[in-house]
Amino acid sequence: MITKKEPESTAEKGARSRRGTTRKSNSQEVIIPGTITVKHLGEIMGVGPIDVIKQLMRNGVMAAINQVIDYDLAATVVPSFGLIPVQQKQSRKTELETLEKRGQDQGDNAPERSPVVTIMGHVDHGKTTLLDTIRNSRVAEKEIGGITQHIGAYQVEYKDQKITFLDTPGHEAFTAIRARGTQVTDIAVLVVAADDGVMPQTIEAINHAKAANVPVVVAINKMDRQDADPDVVKRQLLDHNLVLEEWGGEVIGVPISAKENTGIDDLLANILVVAEIAELKAEIDGLASGVVIEAKLDRTKGPLATVLVQAGTLRVTDSVVAGTVFGKVRALVNDKGKRILEAGPSVPVEILGFGTLPQAGDKFYATTDERSAKSVVEENERRHVEDQKLLRAMTLEGVMSGITGGTTKELNLILKADAQGSVEAASGALLRLDSPAAKITILHASTGRVNEGDILLANASNAIILAFSVGIEPGVEGTATRESVEIRSYDIIYKLIEDVEKALKGILEPTYLEHVIGRALVREVFKAGKTGNAAGCIVDDGKITRGSYVRVKRDGKIVHENTVSSLRRFKEDTNEVGVGFECGIGVGNFNDFEEGDILEVYRREKAKI
Ligand code: GDP
Repeated sequence: MITKKEPESTAEKGARSRRGTTRKSNSQEVIIPGTITVKHLGEIMGVGPIDVIKQLMRNGVMAAINQVIDYDLAATVVPSFGLIPVQQKQSRKTELETLEKRGQDQGDNAPERSPVVTIMGHVDHGKTTLLDTIRNSRVAEKEIGGITQHIGAYQVEYKDQKITFLDTPGHEAFTAIRARGTQVTDIAVLVVAADDGVMPQTIEAINHAKAANVPVVVAINKMDRQDADPDVVKRQLLDHNLVLEEWGGEVIGVPISAKENTGIDDLLANILVVAEIAELKAEIDGLASGVVIEAKLDRTKGPLATVLVQAGTLRVTDSVVAGTVFGKVRALVNDKGKRILEAGPSVPVEILGFGTLPQAGDKFYATTDERSAKSVVEENERRHVEDQKLLRAMTLEGVMSGITGGTTKELNLILKADAQGSVEAASGALLRLDSPAAKITILHASTGRVNEGDILLANASNAIILAFSVGIEPGVEGTATRESVEIRSYDIIYKLIEDVEKALKGILEPTYLEHVIGRALVREVFKAGKTGNAAGCIVDDGKITRGSYVRVKRDGKIVHENTVSSLRRFKEDTNEVGVGFECGIGVGNFNDFEEGDILEVYRREKAKI
């Protein structure tokens, strides 16, 4: 019998010739980390990145040269170069873990640092005006004519003490950063217009601050107006458990007029009082760590990122890393537009020198050298891939199975309903389920559709959203899916209560949520195997993966549901086919494909309650 030897591919030839110089000939194994870029994978195999990309394409995966792929995928191409993939063991602490620990170790003996303040409140109550008034009237005139530059945050000085204000008002920005795992705000200033009183977003802001455990100072604004009635505001705040000092509580309320610039000194003085109680401290020595507040691309200067230093001191020429972006600090610009050489804790500063744009909310770290910065980038990339793989444990069942680690189970809820009466009825009933063994906290309860702010709060606080007789604002469902936040909708109140009760008892049957991951259009039908038919398709959207759930849709109607039983590209079996590619798809127990059918592939996830 004559066996025909497969012609050697150019990739393999390339691998052979290059390997000779880069690898020991007695070893066929390549050690691959948990995640790796296509380029790096090529490097460690001693082959060109294009060869790796081609091999990935043969397997139906489109990948760019700098794309990060995980070990499992990398391992599928390694054998084609005649090598054996071996996964690198994670042993010692990663560079990133060391940096994270460094950022958290703020000893009791560390020096005091100035507070970082966010201004929150209902729309039109004067948040922007207050930020402008403070900035324009309190920046020391000596400093370059007092002209401030918008870099996302600014610092003012009052009685020789500094206060940093984040320049993005509103609880959405506040919670968005918190949702990314960091807290930058030390104190929230809640602006309430004295002529309008507590409004829906005031309540949202209160709840966002409470969920973050951030102290609140109330600025009762628009006191210059004839119809200003601060007592009404105070009474309304009381209804939301914000008891002002004069009424025996602990919350400071300051009457102001942001427009007329009155009461501002008093407000700043009180912010400093609250800061003192909070005993804010941070090490000044050592390499800096902090958070990216804002990032933008400047046409001439390139990527600009405003960061807030939280510990240590950031210096020009430091290497820096934020998320999956790194760089070297070429220049630091402060909020007055002045170039500075270093920035310590609580100082907002713009960094010039990142390679590409980091994301707002990302933690940043200064490192001793570029090599460490790069290894942090790799670790962050690995975490990112893992995060995508892992279904967040923000399910009611997950919460019930003891995230807290102790015997007490905790459940955070956000309740949205159609009318105030339903909000009260449902919260009352839910809180009756609260017990020492299973703690229920309603982080926020209000009327109206589920909005972006609710998702952010749920994401930042591991909460589940219960929507009673209300819909979801357009576009918000997408955010919820992306952030793995569950929204449970109900039309009957007892059903809502019953579900939570069941979940608390841990007896709830899991339900499933579906997420469409790809769609393919059937272009032709052909025979596959002895009995079955397969569909020749083009992937229109997302990707098709073998073994996934799939629905066959015809004229918008579902004609069959099963799994992707076979997936082929150029007659070769493959596990995944990306958008724009042609492939052959077989669907379990189904042969009646028709041209024009849509195959919708989806993932099922255990739902939250
Ligand atoms: P934001 O939506 O909370 O940022 O509110 P703005 O700062 O944009 O203010 C909304 C409106 O209220 C603007 O027309 C301001 O001029 C006005 N305003 C803000 N503060 C005061 C104040 O102290 N007194 C009066 N009378 N009007 C104010």
